Amino acid sequence: MSTERANKCIACSVTNCTHHCCDSDFCSLDRIQVGTHETDPTVDQCTDCQSFKMK
Ligand code: SF4
Repeated sequence: MSTERANKCIACSVTNCTHHCCDSDFCSLDRIQVGTHETDPTVDQCTDCQSFKMK
């Protein structure tokens, strides 16, 4: 899915996501939502792509 258009502004290596461009490490969406599951985020692991959808 979603191999039609790599958005070169959004690099991503999450190949399990339906929005990932299969042949390159980019997202195919025009924009994504990034958020956090923490109340006080301190490291990158605290952040999430909330546009993720499992394949
Ligand atoms: S929606 Fe998020 S996780 Fe999915 S390919 Fe785009 S940037 Fe990666």
